[in-house]
Amino acid sequence: MCGIVGYVGTRDVVPILLEGLHRLEYRGYDSAGLAVLRSGGLKLHKGAGRVRNLESLLPKRMKGHIGIAHTRWATHGEPTDLNAHPHTDTSGRIAIVHNGIVENAAALRARLERDGIEFRSDTDSEVFAHLIARVEADTLEERVRAALHEVQGAYGLAVISAENPDRIVIARNGSPVLIGIGEREMLVASDASALVRHTQRVVYLDDGELAVITSDGYQTSTLDAKPTRKESSVIGWGGDAYERGRFDHFMLKEIHEQPEAIQRALRGRLDVRFQTSHLGGLRLEPRDLLEVRRVKLLGCGSAHTAGQLGAHLIERLSRIPADAEPASEFRYRSPVIEKDTLYIAISQSGETFDTLAAVQEIQRKGGRVVGVVNGVGSTIARECGAGIYLRAGPEIAVVATKTFTSMAVVFGLLALHLGRVRDLSPSDGRRLINGFQALPRQVEAILADDKRIRDIACELVSSRSVLFIGRGPGYAIAQEAALKFKEITYLHAEAYPASELKHGPLALIDPETPTLVVLPRDDLFEKNVSTIQEIRARRGPVVAVTHPGDPIEGVEHTIAVPKLAPELDPILLGIPFQLLAYHAALALGRDVDRPRNLAKSVTVE
Ligand code: GLU
Repeated sequence: MCGIVGYVGTRDVVPILLEGLHRLEYRGYDSAGLAVLRSGGLKLHKGAGRVRNLESLLPKRMKGHIGIAHTRWATHGEPTDLNAHPHTDTSGRIAIVHNGIVENAAALRARLERDGIEFRSDTDSEVFAHLIARVEADTLEERVRAALHEVQGAYGLAVISAENPDRIVIARNGSPVLIGIGEREMLVASDASALVRHTQRVVYLDDGELAVITSDGYQTSTLDAKPTRKESSVIGWGGDAYERGRFDHFMLKEIHEQPEAIQRALRGRLDVRFQTSHLGGLRLEPRDLLEVRRVKLLGCGSAHTAGQLGAHLIERLSRIPADAEPASEFRYRSPVIEKDTLYIAISQSGETFDTLAAVQEIQRKGGRVVGVVNGVGSTIARECGAGIYLRAGPEIAVVATKTFTSMAVVFGLLALHLGRVRDLSPSDGRRLINGFQALPRQVEAILADDKRIRDIACELVSSRSVLFIGRGPGYAIAQEAALKFKEITYLHAEAYPASELKHGPLALIDPETPTLVVLPRDDLFEKNVSTIQEIRARRGPVVAVTHPGDPIEGVEHTIAVPKLAPELDPILLGIPFQLLAYHAALALGRDVDRPRNLAKSVTVE
């Protein structure tokens, strides 16, 4: 959540910081700012609004070779000019940018105020600047280190000081920061997207680490000043993966990247010979898997709805009881951890704070947890030590599309694997493998229907509220569809199990309230059709996402998706809802890639 970028080297720093901020804007975008060190001291500019607003505030000529910048997603204090980062100490000689939350900010602030310090913002983050300024020590790193001993909470932090004008000091606790290694220049950032244009070689800090960065190198150490040894790694995705290319929005680009993302999720993982899947990263032998009595999937937002779909797939194919729960709820309810349960932590970024906390809770109680994440080398991936990478590539739009689909595919592979260790027959295994292999081109066929889906979306936007219904795995799809729809259209959207409609929400149905139905042609098809008739009897408009077949009475619009292996149908049924949400948001003039109040990668509680 929110973005940090910093640079020290020989080039002009301001364009580098601005370009980094633009790339990080998907992580938070309510205000932005930068601080640059020059011979005369610190120069700082910041303001509410987007990075382009910050650009307009900058003087024409602003030189410097070292600086830090931030794009904020407010947790403490409104998104105002004064609350934007960087924050400085009273003398204006030290500047900080911070991601995360200082939990003891109120107490620290009260103490500093008693000592006569006047705060200029409402943020929790400002305490860092004042705490660092009060430490008497020779170097900036020593001052930062001492200050951090007083802070409780999560931070990714970058600091510059006019007293040590050759360095940036960064520190990490619960919020990512990494170093980008260049030629006679170094960068720091909260995620790799800000660095790809300059370097592919990066070093990830661990929690409790601090680093001093100068133009010709870096040194890492613990908060207790013990040097640490770091291996550098390669980002793996080129700059293009972070560009919109020919698409108007990242969301549309990522929707269209799904066939390729599915192919990557499948690559090397289908075992045709034994009609199963091969998931080496799980580090679980068949014997371990035989001992699994239950599967619990934990994620937040779209990762949770993907988990719900995953639970259906796993239970259906392996006959192991499986269920999903929001990680944010699980972590706080003192859950019972069972040794024969396989826990699965799901997160696009691999940095989701609530999901990470759930992982730590499980591990603390002796449970076995594996990760399903997109972010290679991310905190959840590392904490779990085993799991399945999505390989979906960078996802920049705030709402999940390709990563949701990749999660569903990966759960399908896991379900196949667990099933084949148990009772799933080789012929079913073979049938599913065919199904997986067909998915990329089936998704392409759905995407080709874009214009029709857009026309339907345009009809939906005059509604105040939209219902999404489905059964079983179709209900998981309905939930994801409703979530996506509300996230980017700001219209009220509610998902309900189709079977439950008559137990309450039918009261909402009227000619102005459309219902979108996830309608596979499966053994519950007739039941869903009865539900549709109940809606029609109350004159509610109905849109069905279904398979090709006879017309369905009473349905205003149908969107047909291809069919192959019935277990994998939900993956395809979910795709048109992404385009529906996209076009509806566009018709309403919303900022599709950066919906209000949200940000990618929720690294705060
Ligand atoms: N807690 C800080 C603030 O509200 C930082 C939030 C962020 O991560 O952007 O300013």
